[in-house]
Amino acid sequence: MNPIQTTHRASIHDRDNFWAAEAREIHWESPFSQVLDFSKPPFAKWFVGGHTNLCFNAVDRWLDKRGDEPALVWVSTEVDQEVTYTTRALYQEVNAVAAMLVEQGVKQGDRVLIYMPMVPEAVFAMLACARLGAIHSVVFGGFASVNLAQRIDDASPKVIICADAGSRAGKVTPYKPLLDKAISLSTRPPEHVIVVNRGLFDYEPVSGRDLDYATLRAKHEGASVPVTWLESSAPSYVLYTSGTTGKPKGVQRDTGGYAVALASSMKRIFNGAPGDTYLCTSDIGWVVGHSYIVYGPLIAGQTTILYEGTPVRPDGGILWSLVERFKVNTMFSAPTAIRVLKKQDPALLKKYDLSTLRALYMAGEPLDEPTAQWIAEGLGKPIIDNYWQTETGWPILAAQPGIAPVPTKFGSPSFPVYGFDVRVLDEQTGQDLGPDQKGVVAIVPPLPPGAMTTIWGDDKRFVETYFTSIPGRQVYSTFDWGLVDDEGYWFILGRTDDVINVAGHRLGTREIEESINSHPAVAECAVVGIADQLKGQVAVGFAVLKDPSQLVDAAASMKLEGAIMKVVDEQLGPVARPARVRFVTTLPKTRSGKVLRRAIVAVCEGRDPGDLTTIEDPSALEQIKDSL
Ligand code: ATP
Ligand code: MG
Repeated sequence: MNPIQTTHRASIHDRDNFWAAEAREIHWESPFSQVLDFSKPPFAKWFVGGHTNLCFNAVDRWLDKRGDEPALVWVSTEVDQEVTYTTRALYQEVNAVAAMLVEQGVKQGDRVLIYMPMVPEAVFAMLACARLGAIHSVVFGGFASVNLAQRIDDASPKVIICADAGSRAGKVTPYKPLLDKAISLSTRPPEHVIVVNRGLFDYEPVSGRDLDYATLRAKHEGASVPVTWLESSAPSYVLYTSGTTGKPKGVQRDTGGYAVALASSMKRIFNGAPGDTYLCTSDIGWVVGHSYIVYGPLIAGQTTILYEGTPVRPDGGILWSLVERFKVNTMFSAPTAIRVLKKQDPALLKKYDLSTLRALYMAGEPLDEPTAQWIAEGLGKPIIDNYWQTETGWPILAAQPGIAPVPTKFGSPSFPVYGFDVRVLDEQTGQDLGPDQKGVVAIVPPLPPGAMTTIWGDDKRFVETYFTSIPGRQVYSTFDWGLVDDEGYWFILGRTDDVINVAGHRLGTREIEESINSHPAVAECAVVGIADQLKGQVAVGFAVLKDPSQLVDAAASMKLEGAIMKVVDEQLGPVARPARVRFVTTLPKTRSGKVLRRAIVAVCEGRDPGDLTTIEDPSALEQIKDSL
């Protein structure tokens, strides 16, 4: 066993002692009396009786040591602005927002919905809620009114904080009218809306309801709002899953367990220390943004960079230029962003001084071996694939260089993270499977600190959704499909919904996608299983090329399709060979960048694509239809 596996074992077999030690990473205003209360499985309560606060741990705790050091750096290539907030400045901004919220009557347990682009005020708002014990619900900026209205109804927020507009790739999206419409659709509207006016869109405030952020901030400048000490299990926030497989689920998170898990992960998984600089390119609307743009780095006393912009503007070197300029030590991105860069000039990867960067962490979707290899070679840095979910709040599987530097394998997120008793189980029998056997990835409860505690307002749905799908055992299903190799490395093969059954052979979509991606012309692809009278199902692939101009005519397309099929044939055998490979310029994805395979299947089978509220670009689905 390597040290990562030994640590994992200790976390499961000597659970309470293990987590009691990790809990020392954060400030407790009053100590906990019990590490875990698991008297009502599968509900877990961590650090029972202890009082703490996320905002205190992220900001106040660092005032003495890092008061004049940068805590938050905002860089926007959308509006060409850059602002650095020291810990002290961050403290002041957060307190001003907390005072605004108090003035509107917000108190512990109230919900505040945040509908904002990647601007510092969004971070201040999150931390201000945490300071008061108000539960934030960040809704990804730019979500359409219908999605927003559903989330408003679910959370019934007392206050909504929004911006006039967001901007993406230079195109302004007015948020305020989307919000106004959402509120009119909603059955549980907020009392007040606080609007950050960026000067991007002229709006008419709704009198008696809308308040101007800048005016309130000026009024509360210099305010100091006492921290509300929260019992460890008090909810910190509600956040929705990406909606890749269906209707999004409102994940509820606690306070103490989350703070401990993040502080611990910043050391053991991210191998960092106070004073480091952390760049995460996710969005505050997603779990990666919550955990590793806002709370994780700040709780660990690091400088966090909040980047508003795309990875390719002004050019494909922008992210690496940020690493050079801000001396970034740890970077976190998503495979979808790196696949975009594959279409850019690879020389951009070498143009900047990346000597401070220790590793690039990636999560969100399977990181195929060809992409991992491409970026690892291009940067000359370790790539750390980590696998997790909105539900878990932090990685389930990852290399953990802060514990020990163990070699990684491309295509594998390495080993289970301490605290997660993760297994590969047979879907039918619920039995544990052995090396190289494919099955459902499941977690034996209790879920560790930091993981979801329930579905917001619906304990029953929490149990029924996650803990009843595997026969004979009350275990948490990730609904992902995976295997462990004979050296203990884990592989995620796609979602259980996406497993393809071709003439009795079960294949994860990822296995075929991996193979198609290894063709040098391909930037990214999606594979789905389509009903077939003869074989049960056949695989169909949709590929985006690095350089689409090479498809001069139908003959060129057919030739490339044949070449790609041959690659799959050679690597996986004829069973896996897709019946068709079609070329498109973009894939249908959720707004968090995940391929919407269920919608592709539906379109291919001539069915209704179902809930598409989280789709980024509906025209991508049209392309799929047209390509058939
Ligand atoms: P929904 O649950 O609403 O259908 P979603 O599962 O896409 O949406 P998220 O919580 O954002 O919502 O995504 C988690 C999922 O992303 C995982 O269950 C897994 O399928 C995929 N994933 C995340 N990281 C990785 C990774 N490193 N390797 C493979 N898959 C990953
Ligand atoms: Mg999910």
